[in-house]
Order: sequence, then structure tokens, then C-alpha cells
Amino acid sequence: SAPENLLQAQGLEAGYGKIRILHNVDLAVRPGEIVALLGPNGAGKSTLMRALSGLLPWTAGDVLFDGKSLRGGTPRDAAQAGLVHVIEGHHVFTQLSVQDNLSLAGYDVRKHEREERIRDALAFFPEIEEKRHERAGALSGGQQQMLVVAQGLVKRPRLLILDEPSAGLSPVLVDRVFEVAARLRDGGTSVLLVEQLVEKALALADRLYAMAHGEIVLQADTKEPDLQRRLEEAYFGQH
Ligand code: ATP
Repeated sequence: SAPENLLQAQGLEAGYGKIRILHNVDLAVRPGEIVALLGPNGAGKSTLMRALSGLLPWTAGDVLFDGKSLRGGTPRDAAQAGLVHVIEGHHVFTQLSVQDNLSLAGYDVRKHEREERIRDALAFFPEIEEKRHERAGALSGGQQQMLVVAQGLVKRPRLLILDEPSAGLSPVLVDRVFEVAARLRDGGTSVLLVEQLVEKALALADRLYAMAHGEIVLQADTKEPDLQRRLEEAYFGQH
């Protein structure tokens, strides 16, 4: 039977060298839900995302994706299982066309399937679809970031991790990314969203986790009453 959680981190610990950043982190994402991960600068949000997607090894605990451990796997292994991490600021190949950048993201699938995925991904982003035969360097900075998200979509994620997608985007493009996340959810894809725009993230997400000092300090449904007060306590009430 299918596990209830698509992603499940249990007792996760990870860090850099001898410095442990994540402490005993439990986090779950169910199929078809949007989960927001909030917390102050330096709380460990990006570190957690990197551990989940295989960019950073963890030292204790486990991450299950669709019931199977991702232990020891690379980001490529995670992506092939369906967990795709879109990293803000990741660079596209500016000399290559938009189309070729998307083809690279789908290098491991057959041409026919790849073309279909590229069409579907571009359907989310009309601004870049018009420019699919132009060099990616001809896109605006914000559009290049959209292209990075589209590259993630070409991998057909079951869970898409978006780390601060709004960073460096105009308000219009921020709305576009949030709209894409909502449409992905409608199609059954899960989204894990790290976002500094708390109000917007809460309006979009089904559930939230808040981190401080590398620990999960709050887990809640976004429809729960009194959330603002509980979030403030979680952010500032620690240690
Ligand atoms: P922000 O919103 O500012 O990105 P964050 O919640 O994502 O914050 P992280 O980037 O995960 O936090 O950082 C958590 C801690 O890990 C910080 O103390 C940071 O200085 C440290 N850290 C992050 N990356 C590294 C690294 N490559 N090497 C050493 N320490 C790091």
C-alpha cells in the first residue's frame, strides 16, 4: 500500500564539518500538499532542504521518499525518485537556447517524452515560451529564474522543493511562481516551499513548519487560528 507521507524526515541531523546545524528534525510532506518551511535567517532551512535532496549528507536519522530511504543517494538519485530541488540563483547556460537548457534537464528521458515534458513545462511560463528558441542569456534575470523552475518541472517531480523562489523576482513573477505551485498541487504534485514572504506562503500552503536554531519549533495547519502569535513565539521564544 502507498505510504501516507510522500516525504518523511526522521531525527535528521546534518551540518558542515564538525558544526552540527540540524538537530533531530522530523518533517513530513503528504502527496498533493504544499508545505511551507519558515524561520529566521540562519535557522537552517536551506541546510535542511540540501539534506533532503542529497546535496548534503546527514549524520543521523533518515529521509524516506515514498517509503524508501534516500540515505547515501545523490541529488540525481533523488530527482530520479521524483524529489526535485530547485535552487534559487542556480545558473542557466546563457549561450544555449531556452529549449536546449530544458533539454539538458531532461537528458535522461527519450526524445519524444522529453519534448512532451518541455511543452508541458513551458505552458506554465508564457513569457519564456515565446522565447524558447532564443539564447537563455536574452531572458531577464527573473525569466532566467523561471527557466530554472521550468527545468525542475521537466524532471516531472512528485515533490518539488522551492528554496526562496521569490528572491530577486518582481511581484508579478512572484505571483507567477506561487500560481505554478498551486497548479502543481491541483495536479497532485507536492511542494515544499522555503519562503521569506510569510503572509504569501501561508496563504498558499496547507501546512507549515517553523525552524529556529536548527530545530523544528512549530508545526501547524495554515488554517489554524492564532497562527501569527504562535509563529512569533516560535521564532522568538527559543533559548
Ligand atoms: P537564510 O534564510 O538566511 O538562508 P537558513 O534558515 O536557510 O537561512 P542556512 O542557510 O541553512 O539557514 O544556515 C544555517 C546555519 O548554517 C547558519 O549558521 C549558516 O552560517 C551555516 N552554514 C550554511 N551554509 C554553510 C556552509 N556551507 N558551511 C558552513 N556553515 C554554513
